[in-house]
Amino acid sequence: MIKNLILHLHTVNKHRWLVFKLCCKAGIPFRGLVHDLSKFSPTELFESAKYFKGDKSPISYCKKDKGYSNAWLHHKANNKHHAQYWYDELAPQKAALIPYKYTVEMICDTLAAGMTYQKDKWTKDYQLNYYLNKEHRDILNPIIDEILVDVYTKVSEEGLKVINHKQLKKIYYDHVRGDKNDQKHQNIS
Ligand SMILES: [Zn+2]
Repeated sequence: MIKNLILHLHTVNKHRWLVFKLCCKAGIPFRGLVHDLSKFSPTELFESAKYFKGDKSPISYCKKDKGYSNAWLHHKANNKHHAQYWYDELAPQKAALIPYKYTVEMICDTLAAGMTYQKDKWTKDYQLNYYLNKEHRDILNPIIDEILVDVYTKVSEEGLKVINHKQLKKIYYDHVRGDKNDQKHQNIS
């Protein structure tokens, strides 16, 4: 248990450091600094140490074992960089439009997670392939889904230099504004 706790903390810190570096490049250093801090709460920390295997997130092992994960329920309720935070089955629009800074934090998080688990097998097209084959993409707002595909496609072509404030801001607001214009057109016709 102690060994797994140390190994888990090592993985968390390594991941947080990668996310921090990406968030700095992306122009949201504060989000990088506070990223995933809830992983140090007892609810998340002890469960993750118990199910630590090192190849995937301990949360998935816990879900397989118990059918649910308290660490995940705690994590998604406290972290705005997760689609599940913004998903509300009973809201008129089930998946809300995630604000810019949390969308960018999500991008940095997913890229970093891929790198952490793939290690030297990670390539710049990894995230795009992973994302396109992912199930349950519908829990994301369709505009956010488009933004992620756009960013991951650009990363697959140009690499991590795409992760910069200017380019991300343009991609995000082009999609958000584009959608508003589409709605206007639909109303006219
Ligand atoms: Zn997280």
